[in-house]
Amino acid sequence: MTFYQKCIPHHYDVSIFDIDYETLKKQGIHALFFDLDNTIIGYDQVRLDEKHRTLITSLQKDFFVVILSNTNLSRVSTALEGLDVPFLFHATKPLKRGFKKALKISKTTVNDTVMIGDQLMTDVFGANRMGIKTILIRSVKRKSDRWMTKINRIFERFVLKKVQKKYPSLYLERLKDYVDDHEM
Ligand SMILES: [Mg+2]
Repeated sequence: MTFYQKCIPHHYDVSIFDIDYETLKKQGIHALFFDLDNTIIGYDQVRLDEKHRTLITSLQKDFFVVILSNTNLSRVSTALEGLDVPFLFHATKPLKRGFKKALKISKTTVNDTVMIGDQLMTDVFGANRMGIKTILIRSVKRKSDRWMTKINRIFERFVLKKVQKKYPSLYLERLKDYVDDHEM
């Protein structure tokens, strides 16, 4: 797999509420790894609200859910307060070590795990390097990206252009809506 292929998600959805979890279950997926910032909540939100909590709790009936975040402990633990869900902070995505730790927690393999996130350079690239399937979603609130993420977004735009050129049909199928939804 080339670098650019590793930046292509398996699927794109508008939000975590639009993902077809039933199908994932039927496909034999046992664990879901979620990014936190701009995947579940915007950077400007401190806590998961009721609808997020209801979704996560209901998903935990069918899947082992792990929150895999590059942000700090206090941010993640405050966001998830009151929820009984394992999480990793400073996960160093796209490095493999956070994904490996999460797989240990979920006791699943790369074949029955899906990573859900809003960033190509961390969530998608990192999970693809591991061989974990990825679902890319639209950022909750792109304007609230942190500075590190803003830098990643510059790489992202470059990568998106390359992918569009090298793999036009995959781009159309899995990335065009992502680009259009963010008006990039
Ligand atoms: Mg994110």
